[in-house]
Amino acid sequence: MDIQTKCVQAGYEPKNGEPRVLPLYQSTTYVYETPEQLAKLFDLSEDGHIYTRISNPTVAAFEAKVNALEGGVGAVACSSGLAAETLAILNVCNAGDNIVSLTTIYGGTFNLFNVTLRKYGIDTRFVFPQAGYEEIAKVIDDKTKIIYCETLANPNMNIANFELLAKVAKDYGVLFMVDNTLATPIICRPIELGANVVVHSTSKYLDGHASCVGGIIVDGGNFDFKGNPRYPEFNVPDESYHGLVYTSVAPACFSVKARVQMMRDLGSCMSPFNAYLTNLGAETLHLRMVKHSENALLCAKALSQNPKIEWVKYSGLEGDENYDKAQKYFTDGLNSGMVVFGIKGDKEQVCDFMKALKLIKIVTHIADTRTCILHPATTTHRQLSAEELVACGISENLVRLSVGIENPYDLISDLEQALQAIY
Ligand SMILES: *Cc1c(COP(=O)(O)O)cnc(C)c1O
Repeated sequence: MDIQTKCVQAGYEPKNGEPRVLPLYQSTTYVYETPEQLAKLFDLSEDGHIYTRISNPTVAAFEAKVNALEGGVGAVACSSGLAAETLAILNVCNAGDNIVSLTTIYGGTFNLFNVTLRKYGIDTRFVFPQAGYEEIAKVIDDKTKIIYCETLANPNMNIANFELLAKVAKDYGVLFMVDNTLATPIICRPIELGANVVVHSTSKYLDGHASCVGGIIVDGGNFDFKGNPRYPEFNVPDESYHGLVYTSVAPACFSVKARVQMMRDLGSCMSPFNAYLTNLGAETLHLRMVKHSENALLCAKALSQNPKIEWVKYSGLEGDENYDKAQKYFTDGLNSGMVVFGIKGDKEQVCDFMKALKLIKIVTHIADTRTCILHPATTTHRQLSAEELVACGISENLVRLSVGIENPYDLISDLEQALQAIY
């Protein structure tokens, strides 16, 4: 199946007489005729659903779709993107361990790494996106469990140097984890570029309609946990799961552990209803990503020609600092729908501009059908210090535009009239 067909059809195949559309199984639990049958499920010797915290048929179909899109060996859907990241990280990190992450990451993830995980003894060593091999290698030690980045960084739209990060990770035997939220598997497939685990906020393009908060972990199945001294937990019996050794379920060790141990204990599962709606959204992902990308390119071009704009960053613009990486890592010339730009002026002019917009709304969200705009420095990244903002690549006049799938010329007219109104 081509990826376009997978968007529409993967994950659910009805049998004779069954519903054509993935049904919503809004049930916490499942019936078995004998206790012995149920025991087999607990032993993982038979497949089936026990309790919706662990798995559910609607959620499983959605997981199978995203797994097929990313080219993984197993996926675990979660209640939000941050829940997916947390679960994936705790699947390999204990107190005393550390993560090596690029600085250019989503503000919420930055807080998770920089504040909350530290409270539990998990340290993050941040490196700048321009860092070379030596600089990254220097901060890796025997407690480093993850190298982390975003394919397309939110909000500064930097594209990760996959070749370099995958090489360092491989040389040191460290798991390479990538947040692919803003690129989506239509534009970039990190597993093909050396990532071992992919995480998503499905609240963004995968759902695409801003209706459900959700997340997912996809296991690349391409990491060798067996005998790797960095990951002892995968190589010794899990006494909390009657002695299961996770390497015995290879290649899906990471996703099996994430589900039967981490999801069991942390409980941040995706609700069946959210899986149902997000799956419906994902059926048109391939169409939407093309339109988001086309519209964003037109908006980026129009903005870059406007005298009130200081700079525009969009990897689809020739001459953009990320253009070459987009050519190398992205599919079919697509670049996603996120454009960032700086207005000539300061916070006040940014505010006036945003207030003058009519069609484009101010929203703390991105990546849905409706075009929206946000000023990160005063909202999503408000908690960050001035130095942290610089480290995340956010200047005071940076505006993040999430270009939707409306008619592009309506969007450009709105942007232009609002720029006219500021001074
Ligand atoms: C939104 C977002 C998240 C967090 O996802 P939630 O679903 O809001 O928890 C993580 N990473 C990126 C890149 C995001 O854009």
